[in-house]
Amino acid sequence: GAQVIAREKHNISRRQISDAALQVLNGLHRAGYQAYLVGGSVRDLLLGREPKDFDVCTDARPEEVRKLFRRNARLIGRRFILAHVQFGREIIEVATFRGGDSDGQTVSASGRILADNVYGTLEEDAQRRDFTANALYYNIADRSIIDFWGAWADIEAQRLRMIGEAAQRFHEDPVRMLRAARFAAKLGFQLDPAIESAIPACRELLREVPPARLYEETGKLFLAGFAQQSLAALQRYGLFAALFPQLAELLERAEEGIARELIQLSLRNTDARVAAGKSVHPAFLFAAMLWPVLVAEQERLMQEDKPEVVAMQQAASAVLEENRGQIAIPRRFTLTIREIWDLQARFHRRGGRRPYALLAHARFRAAFDFLQLRCEAGADLGALAQWWQQFQDADSEGRKELIEAAR
Ligand code: ATP
Ligand code: MG
Repeated sequence: GAQVIAREKHNISRRQISDAALQVLNGLHRAGYQAYLVGGSVRDLLLGREPKDFDVCTDARPEEVRKLFRRNARLIGRRFILAHVQFGREIIEVATFRGGDSDGQTVSASGRILADNVYGTLEEDAQRRDFTANALYYNIADRSIIDFWGAWADIEAQRLRMIGEAAQRFHEDPVRMLRAARFAAKLGFQLDPAIESAIPACRELLREVPPARLYEETGKLFLAGFAQQSLAALQRYGLFAALFPQLAELLERAEEGIARELIQLSLRNTDARVAAGKSVHPAFLFAAMLWPVLVAEQERLMQEDKPEVVAMQQAASAVLEENRGQIAIPRRFTLTIREIWDLQARFHRRGGRRPYALLAHARFRAAFDFLQLRCEAGADLGALAQWWQQFQDADSEGRKELIEAAR
């Protein structure tokens, strides 16, 4: 049965919960509904980390939540219907307990859950969650925490444990494998041996997952401040190829030292920016992640006697086209990725007015940052990045001299 951890036995205080989340919890409670904080926020608070967001679950139906919070609420249909309640700038996701037995689910031939729209009890909701550490419920009614699975002990032991049988849960939703790697990376948890041993037979299931969902998960792995750990975890569990198949293969080859270094530097750079509170542009990171694949493809085309520039264009198209069936980077980013790539070749052409035009290009900064990363990774570029740094810093006389010197 469930353990109830009374409020004086745990360290979560209401001061750590956002105002918006408290308003939602209290509003539901006052209206006579059950209301819990659940998932990552409870887990992170117990770990002394700052939660990314606060998710609420309740026995109120989405329509009832909407009526209760009126103008502040709207219903959104994801894989299931949720209420989004907004207070100030913050949006709280409110989910109605999910449940029933598997009768309520639409399941594919391989056991994958396609639709999941049956409401249930708190106990049933707890069974549907993926890992024990993600299934603790903070009850606003008495500020206790309800623990169905021994999650408290797992968190204490920094152990990620599956609720139910790992292989079956991976068949229901293969993305859970990526989530396991993500929580291992982000929280520094060990995967329970049952999870680890289920992955090899299940990893091929990720091919069935829609690319858009894989993109979403890729963002959570690589743009949230622990990208280096994510890569290590994905490689360790043999999952990196599900997201970046060609790169995964390339990195395994011994002679690809520069590629490996470039990827490491890009991820370190991204993590440092997140840690410093700076924005990270997905296009920049993906331009770097796909660069070694692009270069390999360009070289292959040049061996077929394609001219360098043509080979580059064709390789860029091929790499982005292939990606659409893999993690489907959104269009608004692929345009920028191409620009960053195109400018790499243009950095070499320094005659006449060209450097001035390049400097004025909207993507100059991103492309130049990437050029520097390539140099740092050991690419054979001579003093190209240095020249461009000097060109940016120079006055008009200095720029003329630099162009002259580059001839
Ligand atoms: P993060 O810190 O990244 O937000 P999180 O644990 O809150 O981590 P979310 O993706 O925000 O993760 O999901 C919220 C909760 O919903 C999870 O904690 C888990 O209980 C449940 N959940 C999310 N995705 C799944 C899934 N694929 N299968 C089962 N349960 C899931
Ligand atoms: Mg969350």
